[in-house]
Parts: sequence; structure tokens; C-alpha cells
Amino acid sequence: LTQLFRPLDMLGMVYRTIRQGLIDMADMFRLLDTEQEVQDKPGAPALVVRRPSVVFEDVVFGYDRDRTILKGLSFEVPAGHHVALVGPSGAGKSTIGRLLFRFYDPWSGRILIDGQDIAEVSQTSLRAALGIVPQDSVLFNDTIGYNIGYGHPTGEATPAQIEAAAQAAALSGLIERLPARFDTEVGERGLKLSGGEKQRVAIARTLVKNPPILLLDEATSALDTRTEQDILATLHALSENRTSLSIAHRLSTIVDSDSILVLQDGRLVEQGNHAQLLRMDGLYAEMWARQANETQANETSEAVANAA
Ligand code: ATP
Repeated sequence: LTQLFRPLDMLGMVYRTIRQGLIDMADMFRLLDTEQEVQDKPGAPALVVRRPSVVFEDVVFGYDRDRTILKGLSFEVPAGHHVALVGPSGAGKSTIGRLLFRFYDPWSGRILIDGQDIAEVSQTSLRAALGIVPQDSVLFNDTIGYNIGYGHPTGEATPAQIEAAAQAAALSGLIERLPARFDTEVGERGLKLSGGEKQRVAIARTLVKNPPILLLDEATSALDTRTEQDILATLHALSENRTSLSIAHRLSTIVDSDSILVLQDGRLVEQGNHAQLLRMDGLYAEMWARQANETQANETSEAVANAA
């Protein structure tokens, strides 16, 4: 009988892997606006991550042959470090995320995780090592418990794991208010969640997945300042003991990063921590000064709106 059921078990596992793969892909497409075009090499081994470092080694890449987007990009994110990517719109920040997930291969150069070229390992193992928290996450038309638990590598998160992740992602208050708690249906055909709540679900999901490397896409302007601060605190907790690469739109959110990479037109133009970059008085300092002015203006109008 065991012999008979083993293939069925396998099928169940394949189904769960595909289903999880699909929603991960859906998240990626939403964030990265791209489609998959690379294939595993025959017999590609699994990525083995002991020390989750990320290295870009002289990476050259473009979407079309006649336009180079990344023009020889080299940087390292040592294991356990939190590195932020900043730069003007179109500089290539999201492209770096797409290459890290291997939705495309570089024209030349290499991307290494813990010393292994990501083009040489299986994509399943690569994506199992990477977590993504997009700005706007996709929710299944299923229960909120399912939406959190499907992050689990085998699809079998225990209720205790789901609850712990929800708590760490500061979702407990929301869940207490839901009619059927974790069994409440959410998504298009269920309860609609706000942008901030959806992002918390993505954080909880990633906690359940427990990947060693995170790609964070920080919110642009969908959240109010208070919610943003709360979410940032949760993201910090999520990043603890992991390696993270954040695509940052607001500089105020990344001042504590170990290192900030300033990208312009597909090249790394400055690199350092916040204080070092301010002292350089270059592009970062200029962006910082500009955003400080904008923030002040926004805060004034928010205060005026609140007072009204
Ligand atoms: P933003 O801050 O606005 O999100 P970014 O720094 O993340 O910008 P990317 O999204 O990496 O920039 O885009 C870099 C360049 O590549 C842009 O000029 C963009 O138009 C181009 N690009 C992005 N995706 C594609 C694609 N699928 N096909 C062709 N060109 C693309």
C-alpha cells in the first residue's frame, strides 16, 4: 500500500510546489513586470547556502541587444548584511532584483550566492533561498491562514507556525477582529485588505518560508507615514539574521543600512553608509537634500489635513 501511495504523495508535493511557485511568480511579475525566459542547465545541482552572501561580478545586461542597462556592475552583500539600492528612476534597481531571481541571465559577468554562480544551479533551489516582499502582494482567494502558510517550503505550515508569523508581522490585531480569525476568506472574492495589511501578509508569508536572503521593495507612497513606520519596524525584524537587499525609494527608510549602493544609469557611482555618503557630497547627498525638503512639505500638509 505504501508503494501505491508514494506516487500520490509525490504528486501532492509537486502540486504544492507548483502552486507555491505560481504565486511566487505572480508576486514577482507584479513587482518586476517581467516574464521568465531562462532554463536550468541539464542536471543543474541545487544551490547550497551556508553563508548567504550575494556578489555581482562585472555584470553587463540589457533587455534588448541595442540598449545596455547594467554597464559592468560589481558589488558584494556580505552574509547577514543589509544593503540598500538607491538611484534615480530607471537607474536599474529593479533590474538587479530580476537578475538575482534569474528571470534573465547577464550578457557577461556573474552573480554568485555563497560562491555559487546562480546560472549553474537549479532555479527551484535558487528561488527557495530568496524571499521577496513586494510593495503590493498578491492574495489567493482563500483563507488568511492559507495565504500566510503557503510560504512554507513543503506547503505544510502548522497552525502554530502561521500564528507565530502573523504575530511577528503585527497581524494579530487584524486577525482578532476577523469573523472567522485565520479561517476568514480574503482576496478578490473575500475580505479586502488594505495595502499595509497585504504587505504584512507578505511579510508573514516570508517568515514562514524562512529564506536566508531577502529582496525588499520598499513602498513608494501607498502608505501613510504612521503605517510606513510600523511596516518598516516589521521589515527590520524580518531582516534580522538574514541577508537583505532593499530597493529603496525613500532614503529615510534606509539610513541604518550597512551599506548603500548609489546607482545611476546602470553604474555604481557611490557606495558607503549614510554618513559617509553625505560627506561625499555627491549624488546621494543631493537626493537626500531633495527628499528632506519634500518630506517636510508632505508632513506640513499631513499635519494641516489632520488638524482640519
Ligand atoms: P524605478 O525607480 O523607476 O523603479 P529602476 O531603477 O528600478 O527604476 P529598472 O526598472 O531596473 O529601473 O529599469 C531600468 C531600465 O530598463 C529603464 O530604462 C527601463 O525602461 C528599462 N526596462 C525595464 N524593464 C524592461 C523590459 N522588460 N524591457 C525593456 N526595457 C526595460
